[in-house]
Amino acid sequence: MEKLQMKTPLVEMDGDEMTRVLWRIIRDDLIFPYVDLKTEYYDLGLPHRDETGDQVTLDAANATRRLGVAVKCATITANRQRQEEYGLKEIWPSPNGTIRAVLDGTAFRAPILLPFLRPAVPGWEKPITVARHAYGDMYKAVELVTDEPGVATLEFTGESGKTQSLTVAKTKGPAVFQGQHNTEVSIRAFVRSCFQYALDTKQDLWFSAKDTISKEYDGEFRRVFDEEFESTYKAKFNPLGLQYFYTLIDDAVSRVMRSKGGFVWALKNYDGDVMSDMVAAAFGSLAMMTSVLMAPDGSVEFEASHGTVTRHFYRYRAGEKPSTNATATIFAWTGALRRRGELDSLPDLVSFAGKLESACLETMRDGVLTGDLAVLVEKEHCRQVVNFEESLEAIAKRLSAKMHDAGQR
Ligand code: NAP
Ligand code: MG
Repeated sequence: MEKLQMKTPLVEMDGDEMTRVLWRIIRDDLIFPYVDLKTEYYDLGLPHRDETGDQVTLDAANATRRLGVAVKCATITANRQRQEEYGLKEIWPSPNGTIRAVLDGTAFRAPILLPFLRPAVPGWEKPITVARHAYGDMYKAVELVTDEPGVATLEFTGESGKTQSLTVAKTKGPAVFQGQHNTEVSIRAFVRSCFQYALDTKQDLWFSAKDTISKEYDGEFRRVFDEEFESTYKAKFNPLGLQYFYTLIDDAVSRVMRSKGGFVWALKNYDGDVMSDMVAAAFGSLAMMTSVLMAPDGSVEFEASHGTVTRHFYRYRAGEKPSTNATATIFAWTGALRRRGELDSLPDLVSFAGKLESACLETMRDGVLTGDLAVLVEKEHCRQVVNFEESLEAIAKRLSAKMHDAGQR
């Protein structure tokens, strides 16, 4: 069988621990046999980030802007314990934070559903996609600890020389402060990508924040959503019967719980961070959650939502074969290959991505499950609990059959 050709390379960001182990097998056994894979490779594994003074992360983010499509493996976010474990020169910042800051994107997280995998919330029939604004707020905040009574002020000096200032608080003793910001450009890009994603996937869009308390800050987000809806998206939503609405975040939380799913829930950076993990857990396994970062310039990065699965990696290093689920990492690859195929007009590459996804879903439908799923489903849906290798072999076998069939036709 001739391998499928690619035109533009994908930006490939390798990562750490158990997901790095899965990464190699996915490339070698699921993709290489069928695709003449072209990638620009960046090793974001912690040792290499340390060696390059984290330059590799910036290079990878910039390559994504240049080439348009990236696929990323999960990476360790360094902390003091990791510094000791890896003998790091520094505690490097979160790679995802760095990449988001460069791309200024919105992260969309959506669960991969299986018919027999019942969400913890019984009413949820369709996926809920959490759209997280991936710039600013607490993630770009400055913080200050003080040790005596005093006054904190918030001051802005415009380029014109005009200043605006506010008293944050007068404190009587030691205190902590945080200065957050966001920009109109970033908020607008977030808002537009949410409307666009909702349109593309034909789902309603919800946005929730706390503008009753944060009248200016959250109010600004709400204002831009309203403005973009009225000026541009209402006319596109209405004919499709789609809705946009704003509601306070506490009201949204209770509505989400009582909903049937099937919508995009737009959230500010921190709310999105927290809620996406809750939604992921309620839909089943973290291993079934994908994440897509969409930048306003059109570049996209695909990854799994989960981390490097450290506990499994330690067992792997000790010679065991953990039952790690590769689904979300495989779907990161298929998302990136599909997108590349669409951009470069390579229908066979698009179709390959679909076949690999089907092979993955069919393996699970056939009851060949990793441990995380086995504990979630009724006994009759689990024929065999497999380790990561057996699971990937089962997928490879189904994929090979599909590719063979297609080759015969
Ligand atoms: P994690 O890697 O997502 O794993 C947490 C637990 O969830 C695992 O121990 C495992 O539970 C379960 N799990 C997650 N993915 C799974 C999979 N594919 N198959 C089976 N089970 C899975 O989160 P973490 O342990 O908090 O973080 C580990 C490292 O990843 C940290 O260094 C963190 O900084 C990093 N991280 C990176 C990203 C990213 O790059 N996007 C995101 C989050 C975290 P059991 O052990 O109970 O089986
Ligand atoms: Mg989180």
